[in-house]
Amino acid sequence: PTTVVWFRDDLRISDNPALHEAVLRGDPIVCLYVLDDESPGIRPIGGASRWWLHHSLESLAESLKAVGLTLTLRRGPAREVVTALVGDVGATRVLWNRRYGEVERGIDGDLKSSLREAGVEADSFQGSLLAEPWTVLTGQGGWYKVFSPFYRAVMARQTPRHPLPAPTVGDGLHHRTVATDALADWHLLPTSPTPDWAGGLRERWRPGETGAAERLDTFLTERVSHYVAEHDLPAEEGTSMLSPHLRWGEMSPFQFWHALDGHRARASADAEGAAAVLRQLIWREFSYHLLYHLPSITTQNMREEFDRFPWVDPSPAELERWQQGDTGIPLVDAGMRELWQTGIMHNRVRMVVASFLVKNLRVDWRVGEAWFWDTLVDADPAANALNWQWVAGSGPDAAPYFRVFNPELQASKFDKHGSYVNRYVPEAGTPAYPEPMVDLKESRRAALDAYASIRG
Ligand code: FAD
Repeated sequence: PTTVVWFRDDLRISDNPALHEAVLRGDPIVCLYVLDDESPGIRPIGGASRWWLHHSLESLAESLKAVGLTLTLRRGPAREVVTALVGDVGATRVLWNRRYGEVERGIDGDLKSSLREAGVEADSFQGSLLAEPWTVLTGQGGWYKVFSPFYRAVMARQTPRHPLPAPTVGDGLHHRTVATDALADWHLLPTSPTPDWAGGLRERWRPGETGAAERLDTFLTERVSHYVAEHDLPAEEGTSMLSPHLRWGEMSPFQFWHALDGHRARASADAEGAAAVLRQLIWREFSYHLLYHLPSITTQNMREEFDRFPWVDPSPAELERWQQGDTGIPLVDAGMRELWQTGIMHNRVRMVVASFLVKNLRVDWRVGEAWFWDTLVDADPAANALNWQWVAGSGPDAAPYFRVFNPELQASKFDKHGSYVNRYVPEAGTPAYPEPMVDLKESRRAALDAYASIRG
C-alpha cells in the first residue's frame, strides 16, 4: 500500500493534516505537487506568484528531504495527472487538504469519486481555514454576507484546534519514501523569470516555511505591540507581512491563531495588537466564506446595479500609467511602484490605488484585480476579488461608492513626512514629475454622477 499526499495551497510540513495522517498510517509515501495551468476553467497563477511558487517548492522539497521524503513535481490538468501517478506507483490512498474555489472543488470532487470507484481511498482535510465555510451559518441557516456578524460568529466558536507537529527524522520516513529520479522533475518548476525582474522580490522575501516562521517570530517579538499604532503607516513595517506565506500555506491559520492567542493573554500593548491582527485573519476567512458560497464573486459584481455602471475603457497608455506608477499622484505612484518592485503593497495604499483606478479613472475593478493577480506575491483568489469589490462599492459589505479616497489627504494622514512617497517616487515635486493624469476633484464629481445614474 502506498499513500500519495497531494500538496496544493499548503506548502509546509508542520500542521499539515494530510501529511500528518499519511505519516501516522505507516505506509510508503509519495509527496506530489501538480502545476496546473490547464484544467478547464482554472485561472493560471500570475508572474509574481510563479516566482514565489518556484522558491516555495524548493523550500518544501528541502524540508521533506530533511525528514526522509522526496517531492515529486508534475505538470498538467490535475485530475488526469494525479490519476496517472496513482496508477504508476500503485497507490492505495490519496490525501489532500481542502481548497475552496469552485473549479478546484470540482476537480477535487470528481477525482475523489473516480478514485473511490477504482478502489483507491481518497480523503480530504481541513488545513487552510479555521472555519469551514459550510459550518459558519446565520440563525436562519444562510451564509454571512457582512463581515462583523461573521467575525462574531467565528470568535464565539470553540478555540481552533492546536497545530499538528511536523514529521521528524525519528519517524523513519526515509524507509517509506517512494521516489524515482523520473518522478522528481525539477525542470517542471515554474520558471524563474528571464530577464530577471525578481531582484526586488529576492531582497524582500524568503518564500517557504522557514521564512514564514522567521517573519512570525520577528513580528511577535518586535512589532505586534506597535500594530495598532502603526498598521496604517505604509512607511513602517507595521504589519505582519505574512500574507504571501498564508496564501501559499507555508503557515497555517491555526499556527498563526495560536501564536497570536498566546500574546492576547499577555501585556496590554501586545494583547491589543494580537487581537487586531486576529481580526484581520478573520477577514481572510470571510473572503473564503464568500468565495465558497458565491463563487461568482471573482468575476461578477455582487451588487447587480453595477452591471449598468458606465465604466471607461482606458487606452493602453493610460492603463500603463497606473500600472507603472506614473499617474502624477505621488501616493498612487509610490504604491504601484512598491508593488512592481517588491510584489507587495501596503493595505492602506492598496485601497488608495484601487479607489483611484475605479473612481477617478472609472476603470472596471476587474482590470485592477487582474493586474494585482499578476504582480502580487500574495495574489489570492478570494481576498483579491473581495477587496476590489469592497473598494469599488460593488461588493457585499462594501465601502459605499460615494466614498472616494482622496490620495492627497490620505498621504497627509498616513505618510505625514513623505517617507514612503520619497522611497519610491523621489522625483515627486520636481519638474521631472508628470502632472496628474486627471483632476482629482473633477474626476470625483464625474464618478459620483456615474454612480447616481445606476442607482435608479
Ligand atoms: P496583517 O495586517 O498583518 O494581517 C494579517 C493577515 O490577515 C494577512 O496576512 C492576511 O492574510 C489577512 N488579511 C489582512 N487584511 C485582509 C483583508 N483586507 N482581506 C483579507 N485578508 C486580510 N490580501 C491577500 O492576502 N491577497 C490579495 O490578493 C489581496 N488583494 C487585495 C486587494 C486590494 C484592492 C486590497 C485593498 C486589499 C487586498 N488584500 C489582499 C488585503 C490586504 O491588503 C493584505 O492581506 C495585507 O496588506 C497583507 O499584509 P500583512 O500580511 O502584513 O497583513
